[in-house]
Amino acid sequence: MGAIVAIVGRPNVGKSTFFNRLIQRREAIVDEISGVTRDRHYGRTDWNGKEFSIIDTGGYVVGSEDVFEKEIDKQVELAIDEADAILFLVDVESGVTGMDEEVAKLLRRIDKPVFLVVNKVDNAMRAADAVEFYALGLGEYFTISSINGSGTGDLLDEVVKVLPEEEEPEEDLPRFAVVGRPNAGKSSFINALIGEERYIVTDIAGTTRDSIDTRYNRFGFDFNLVDTAGIRRKAKVKEDLEFYSVMRSVRAIEHSDVCILLFDATRGFDGQVQNIFWLAHRNNKGIVVLVNKWDLVEKETQSVKQYTDKIRKAMEPFTDVPIIFISVKEKQRIYKAIETAVEVYKNRSKRIPTRKLNDIMLPIIDAKPPPAYKGKFVKIKFCTQLPTPYPQFAFFCNLPQYVRDPYKRFLENKLREQFDFTGVPMTVFLRKK
Ligand code: GDP
Ligand code: GDP
Repeated sequence: MGAIVAIVGRPNVGKSTFFNRLIQRREAIVDEISGVTRDRHYGRTDWNGKEFSIIDTGGYVVGSEDVFEKEIDKQVELAIDEADAILFLVDVESGVTGMDEEVAKLLRRIDKPVFLVVNKVDNAMRAADAVEFYALGLGEYFTISSINGSGTGDLLDEVVKVLPEEEEPEEDLPRFAVVGRPNAGKSSFINALIGEERYIVTDIAGTTRDSIDTRYNRFGFDFNLVDTAGIRRKAKVKEDLEFYSVMRSVRAIEHSDVCILLFDATRGFDGQVQNIFWLAHRNNKGIVVLVNKWDLVEKETQSVKQYTDKIRKAMEPFTDVPIIFISVKEKQRIYKAIETAVEVYKNRSKRIPTRKLNDIMLPIIDAKPPPAYKGKFVKIKFCTQLPTPYPQFAFFCNLPQYVRDPYKRFLENKLREQFDFTGVPMTVFLRKK
């Protein structure tokens, strides 16, 4: 479970510039929030080999001072709830402002690590100006320039020191995360699955209080549930509820082997659900999609086939994913859901012996070799599965740069046809031999 670092501060101090510097080319997840707040951004980064997640809590506000004050309160509250460390950014160009004092007041009360970060210290002259921030009563500060990067290394050295260590559970059981939007039926699903917690074998505390790995033995399977659905925080507004739930999904996904993605059939496989789907895919996790509340759907107008086709269309090109229609309420196909998750887990850790792989794939390649490119012929001579936590295949050839994406997809499809990697993202590489 990754640690979380939150960036707070008033608008224009350079939060998003700093955030972008930290995550570099990594993809950020944008939580689009309508209304007064700017989008919140979430991304991953690492420093000295330690990975952590970072939230830019946003906070651009149009409107009056008091609207803004409420937003800042919310931002800080969010950081306090979710983060393991808080970076409070201020701006040396403008000096201490009333807003900074407000934020400092909130932060002085909490017992999480708070780093006061004076930004826009682009040169030595400005470093001297930073002393005025002692007045915020938060002790020592760090000076950085988000634009040129100076000072950020020293800051991150100290930040990673206070982050909790990752603890990997010892046993090798499948780790399933039940994820989805609020109200999809996640808690009901888990309750239906585990009865009145009679099946709990042991409790393994997660590294953060937000997620607990619990070991279950159910339907003859042993597995860990990365359970985040049961933990609820009172969110004052609806968009915060959604955001908390996305954050929780993000953390659960990172911590899992297989994501069980539930959605409400009456609401559809919508944009937010798709975001979670692609997040699991980007993290190379196994995926099972559960269409819940199927009891509420008028079967005359929506057949399973039509509904499935629509979902698969939205999943393109990663369509080799189990889709199961369930009703938690009527306890329909709940066993099937877990059985399928176990299969996907096995597919994800499947290893094809090199000999067998070549015996099957080379004739397929001979029958349909990569098309000639710029008059050159590509000859694939050998392939092997790499020893990685999820399936990755290397195909060795004379001219790897001439093999285009459609042919890579062809190879992937053949691998899926021949060996069953249902529910699992895979990577196909062409390498120089
Ligand atoms: P946010 O509202 O706190 O996210 O602030 P932004 O990241 O949008 O930055 C506000 C402005 O400050 C932009 O014009 C940035 O280019 C500028 N800025 C951010 N960091 C630095 C810095 O380290 N030095 C200087 N000189 N300008 C900066
Ligand atoms: P969560 O926010 O994803 O944990 O969702 P909950 O488990 O709290 O469920 C939200 C609501 O949907 C509750 O009122 C459940 O009773 C209801 N619900 C869950 N599963 C089903 C189902 O299969 N059919 C119907 N009709 N309602 C369901």
